[in-house]
Amino acid sequence: MTADMHTAEPIPSAAKDEIDRLLATGDLFRYTSDNAPVAVLEKEFADMMGAKYALAVSSCSAALFLSLKALGLPRDARVLIPAFTFAAVPSAVVHADCQPVLCEVADNYRINIADFQAKLDDNISAVIISHMRGHTSDMDAIMALCDARDIPVIEDAAHSLGTTWDGQNIGTIGRVGCFSFQSYKLLNAGEGGILITDDADLVAQAVIMSGAYEHNWKKHPVLHDAFEKWQNKLPLYNLRLNNMSAVLVRAQLAEVPRRVKDGLRNHDRVATALDASPYFSVPAPLAPEQRAPDSIQFNMVDFTAEQAQDFVAHAAELGVKIQIFGASEDNARAFWNWEFIGPQGDLSQTRNMLMQACDVRLPARLSIDDCDKVANAILSAAAQVFDKAAQYGT
Ligand SMILES: *Cc1c(COP(=O)(O)O)cnc(C)c1O
Repeated sequence: MTADMHTAEPIPSAAKDEIDRLLATGDLFRYTSDNAPVAVLEKEFADMMGAKYALAVSSCSAALFLSLKALGLPRDARVLIPAFTFAAVPSAVVHADCQPVLCEVADNYRINIADFQAKLDDNISAVIISHMRGHTSDMDAIMALCDARDIPVIEDAAHSLGTTWDGQNIGTIGRVGCFSFQSYKLLNAGEGGILITDDADLVAQAVIMSGAYEHNWKKHPVLHDAFEKWQNKLPLYNLRLNNMSAVLVRAQLAEVPRRVKDGLRNHDRVATALDASPYFSVPAPLAPEQRAPDSIQFNMVDFTAEQAQDFVAHAAELGVKIQIFGASEDNARAFWNWEFIGPQGDLSQTRNMLMQACDVRLPARLSIDDCDKVANAILSAAAQVFDKAAQYGT
């Protein structure tokens, strides 16, 4: 067995007093008391990110959905998204009564800017950039293209907390940034999400639609003018976060810099080992990008489909679970499995990438020794595949 790559980190014990208080009082709804943990989390998260406003909600999917609704897009508006993302993204678009349009993603897991530009000129009303597994696309090119056409950009930063682009926090570059507190993300509340923006009118609408019914918006420290205008004008979707989840997240905020630093150390250790072998290539980050990974993605070099399956099986025997995005059954990150949005055209570049891209969890709490074991297991699994090929003279 190699390292334990699946157990979450413990929640810091700093959360205990607040949890006891919530247990004793039953004060779980965010709008019962003033300065509830959810409201405090919003303030702390916005400050940490350098954003004016934050709204905590039930998931990143809810944050994406509310962002689209708060942009006031008409029914059937076309929203450009990358073809490599989690199914939650096209789902949020469908939920907002809009149409997802997919653009190609290259071998390095980043948006193909030529295809993005071509599709942007095809009647697009909004863009969601998904920083998949924390890989940042060329945000300078994307923002220049979108700003020139006055097209709003939503950043799906669910899995990118702590990443920076040219020193700026991911999630603060577009009009809105959305993050997740689901257990596989950097901050773990089991479920939850948050959106950040500097746009008072947008956040006011999102706050109301998230379920700040009647005058509950008064418990948000946002310009009240922005709220009054929307009173009774918007549907309530009730996607609020509860106080217990907020307490769990708040206790972890101080851990973010350590998790980012150790996650990057672990990633780079394994990346260097894999990239040095003839079996794999590990795409480099873009120059302005400082990553915050908690997993590693790498491409198999010239594996047949059968060799790829053998490789995954050998690695599993050695204790490392690898998923090939395009080859694991019903994978939610393979666009052809998003049957709910209908057929999506060719997208062969993304398809080819998904067939060779491997995904391995690499939590920040692993030691360097653990990381070396993981890298060695992956390399041995590949060597077993190609030794067999050599024996059979293929
Ligand atoms: C996890 C994830 C989501 C969805 O987050 P939820 O909080 O589970 O809704 C969306 N996009 C990406 C890139 C993710 O990694």
